[in-house]
Amino acid sequence: MAKRLSKVNVSSMRRYIYSGLFVATLILLYFVRTKEFERSAFYMDTLWEVKIVSHVYPKRAFNRVFTVIAHIDSLANVFGDGELAKINSGHRMKVSSELKEMLEVGIKMGKLSGGAFDVTIYPLMKCWHFFRDQYVPTDSEILAALQRVDYRKIEFRHDTLVLPEGYGIDLGGLAKGYAVESAIKVLKDMGVRRALVNGGGEIGVIGSWKIGIRHPRQQDEIIDTFTLVDAYVATSGDYERYFVKNGKYYHHILDPRTGLPAMELVSVTVVDTSGVWADAIATAVFVLGEDKGKKLLQQLGITRYWIYTREEFQNLEAPK
Ligand code: ADP
Ligand code: MG
Repeated sequence: MAKRLSKVNVSSMRRYIYSGLFVATLILLYFVRTKEFERSAFYMDTLWEVKIVSHVYPKRAFNRVFTVIAHIDSLANVFGDGELAKINSGHRMKVSSELKEMLEVGIKMGKLSGGAFDVTIYPLMKCWHFFRDQYVPTDSEILAALQRVDYRKIEFRHDTLVLPEGYGIDLGGLAKGYAVESAIKVLKDMGVRRALVNGGGEIGVIGSWKIGIRHPRQQDEIIDTFTLVDAYVATSGDYERYFVKNGKYYHHILDPRTGLPAMELVSVTVVDTSGVWADAIATAVFVLGEDKGKKLLQQLGITRYWIYTREEFQNLEAPK
């Protein structure tokens, strides 16, 4: 009798061990077997690419990320009938917390850069037809627009944005970075442990990713690579939106002091712990040029950056 009992015990123990091993293998597979999933869509005038490393297709995470990006696009777009478009057409209204946050970064960046970065650049962008149809404005058109560019005139009365007559806001210099940062925050809140969000060159990552910096003068070429860990990187380049007219190169990053495209640099890449700041800083440094730009980077404690000057690439044509 005692013998039979012990036999039963041994076989049930074996079963326990086997099923234990089976569960352990499943758990191990769960942690080891991840795949990189990718989804892309067009927002804010550019292609957005989101990569999430996961065990199963992260449908909910993708949906939430693109909902956030679409929302910020609708708030910050100067076209259409979103919040900023309404403000620019003269509506006095309460602004959403997201738009207020973007404006506050813009105003701070205006101060830090001595006005090289200016979110009230809208009338000037408008006078260049937003670089959509190769229009070069006359000197008097530029002068008239410049009279309505000054971020110091932005006022908040409680949460209502008040702008002088004829003024307008363009958040193109930082909105993509803000959307990247919002998307990364959503993914972090959902517990995602490895992801990359790329909105037309403004990038945010969770975990460690290898990033390539685009060659400013050779399309599809990479000029440098580096590893980005739990941070953001932004690039401002003169090749994003531009045209050549009568042999002259015109692009969309404008110097508010002259009303003309800033011509000293061809590309600026900046790494920071905030997406919206990285975006704004890259644009500000682009306008300031190498010397003043480096001073600003030093003042902000930014040590990882790449600055490429027009002089370095004078023998290479701009991308067509
Ligand atoms: P991209 O949008 O190509 O990534 P940037 O982040 O440098 O490049 O932003 C350029 C955009 O910023 C322009 O299209 C315009 O909307 C806006 N902008 C242009 N000049 C300035 C400026 N001096 N200060 C703030 N924003 C600017
Ligand atoms: Mg920018």
